[in-house]
Amino acid sequence: MYKRKRIVIALGGNALGNTLPEQMIAVKSTAQALCDLIEDGHQVVVVHGNGPQVGMINNAMAALSREDPNQPNTPLSVCVAMSQAYIGYDLQNALREELRKRGFVRTPVVTVVTQVRVDPNDPAFQNPSKPIGHFMTKEQAEHAAKAYGYIMKEDAGRGYRRVVASPKPVEIVEQDAINSLVDANKIVICCGGGGIPVTLQGDHLKGASAVIDKDFASCLLAKKLGADMLIILTAVEKVAINFGKENEEWLEDLSVEKAKTYINEGHFAAGSMLPKVQAAVDFASSGADRTALITHLNKARDGIMGKTGTRIHL
Ligand code: ADP
Ligand code: MG
Repeated sequence: MYKRKRIVIALGGNALGNTLPEQMIAVKSTAQALCDLIEDGHQVVVVHGNGPQVGMINNAMAALSREDPNQPNTPLSVCVAMSQAYIGYDLQNALREELRKRGFVRTPVVTVVTQVRVDPNDPAFQNPSKPIGHFMTKEQAEHAAKAYGYIMKEDAGRGYRRVVASPKPVEIVEQDAINSLVDANKIVICCGGGGIPVTLQGDHLKGASAVIDKDFASCLLAKKLGADMLIILTAVEKVAINFGKENEEWLEDLSVEKAKTYINEGHFAAGSMLPKVQAAVDFASSGADRTALITHLNKARDGIMGKTGTRIHL
């Protein structure tokens, strides 16, 4: 047996799918992976991405304002808020069902609409880098850039996507409420899509036109919750150096020092694997008893047991 751990889990795009029906189905296996850990006695806090969903909501709201001139354009921060509620709803529902199947009939699951403060002077606002929405061909991307003024970039060899500013999270506004819920053993879903980006203006929190990377938000959350582990679940079982090349090498055990070297050597793609390794390094650096794990969604349980995944530690 192993010690009960407090674990922050960051779910990637493959945990949710790309469309409404896909998400309904995807959350079922995601819920199974999460419930495996809950069943093993761990305290689980869930963060999820929202790239495709926030892109979809943004497109839908843009169509609304094209159709109805009385409807102004919806700020990206509001789109993030909508995505948190929509994804939280499906996850909450699927987790509740899976927990009940396993006999946890009274374990509450709750989604916290979470605002995350960013620095208005963050240089990210001058250099949009975060991919959102669906993948496009070169021709579609050129059209989107021309028609909507979107900034389009190629994403890890998989096509073109719109990019927006991705400032670093500074403070989770609802942190105290989240701590109370986790301490009281509720299953909490929070900081969805990296959190709703806001800047402080006196007593007012103003929504920012940005998407915070959920990998960085989950790292901040894990540190503030005093978590034992940060687990980033994605579409690959391990992190690689020379990714996609002939001399590709999958990593299992990775020290913070070594990870920093590989980051500097450019082994991890910006906007996909880089923020995960950076978040893992940041979390692992915050204490010798803190480990980060990057693995495939379906390998979480094996990963905790040390059977697979890439483990980052001091
Ligand atoms: P998520 O939705 O989980 O955040 P991303 O697509 O943003 O997923 O990032 C995971 C992807 O990063 C992998 O599926 C892989 O294609 C890509 N990737 C880029 N560089 C690497 C690397 N060095 N090792 C492993 N995967 C990498
Ligand atoms: Mg990502």
